[in-house]
Amino acid sequence: MTTKPFAHAIVDDKGLPGLRIDGGLVVAHTHLYSALARGMPPAVPVPGSFLEILQRVWWRLDRALDRDSLAASARWGLAEAVGRGATCVIDHHESPAFIEGSLDVIADAMQDLGVRGVVAYGITARNFGTEEWRAGLAENLRFLKTNRRPLVRGLVGIHATFTLPDQALREAAQLARDFGVGLHVHVAEDKMDADALPRLAAADALVPGSVFAHGVHAKPSEVQQAAERGVWWVHNPRSNAMNRVGFAELSAAGERVALGTDGMDGDMLAEARAAMQLSNATGHSLDPLARLRAGQALALALFGELDDATELSYAPPSPLHAGNVGGHLLFGHPRVSAVQVAGRRIAVDRAVLAEEVQPQAARLWQIMAPLQPEPEHGLLLQRLQS
Ligand SMILES: [Zn+2]
Repeated sequence: MTTKPFAHAIVDDKGLPGLRIDGGLVVAHTHLYSALARGMPPAVPVPGSFLEILQRVWWRLDRALDRDSLAASARWGLAEAVGRGATCVIDHHESPAFIEGSLDVIADAMQDLGVRGVVAYGITARNFGTEEWRAGLAENLRFLKTNRRPLVRGLVGIHATFTLPDQALREAAQLARDFGVGLHVHVAEDKMDADALPRLAAADALVPGSVFAHGVHAKPSEVQQAAERGVWWVHNPRSNAMNRVGFAELSAAGERVALGTDGMDGDMLAEARAAMQLSNATGHSLDPLARLRAGQALALALFGELDDATELSYAPPSPLHAGNVGGHLLFGHPRVSAVQVAGRRIAVDRAVLAEEVQPQAARLWQIMAPLQPEPEHGLLLQRLQS
């Protein structure tokens, strides 16, 4: 069997040389809600551990979100991803002060722009306990029941097992099964979440079609077990490096490992390049194009069919053929010239959009400024038990 090359040479509408990626570029795990965090004032004191990064940065940002700032974040995050060649964005969302209806805001931004997308509300008990995870679960249910957007699908989101009781994991898995969809959950991103897989397995939450992000501290046997049950793993190498949580060795999952940007910038070619560099730097090996292909396979599994493509403007300075297209793609820094989703070309003017979303970013930072981080981990645990 011959595998089709990941990209092939084309001549574009203007007669210029380029590359075309049939099936497009898929961001298999990200957080559109964090798109307006760029340049935000740094957290003081500077967070050290992974939990402190969550408490002092992301769990303050997500509590500051409302409908308008979320809409602006989603529009900007999607525009940026499309501008960097993405055809499908798989989002994991949390906005504790604006839960009901939040998935519609993101899904509308996807459908309006014309990009393929998948949404999920990451349920958690970290802010206000049982009532909170129940409200998150209700939002997943509401969305799965009502969504009719041709370009958008839903999964059932779980923040991470360490901010939830077992009962919530069981109910989320049941909801996913009821709708024939998977879960979308952070799994063993840091040492503190190393028991995620055993807890998910015990809660019967290895639901086929699920998206498990990270897996940095999952055991190879656990990674393999989940993949054999039909779970997709998503490796987020740049985010893992930035958060100093380690390198995710996920080869035990075989071909069921895609790549995600985890909220960074929607740039999948940059992510694939970093995946290769970071795997080499840590003594592992990884095929970046195979991981991008896995993203396409995941999107295909979610949507049934794809008529998507990413076109890049690129003049090769050396011979280009099926066997070396990866080198040109990852190290030639080709510029995105066209993005096609469901047979339609998407256009977005980022300069105009940037002006529109800036006031929302300023307002979001202002709301966030006085919010206090969780004082200690003990409080989080108390809430889980409440
Ligand atoms: Zn994430």
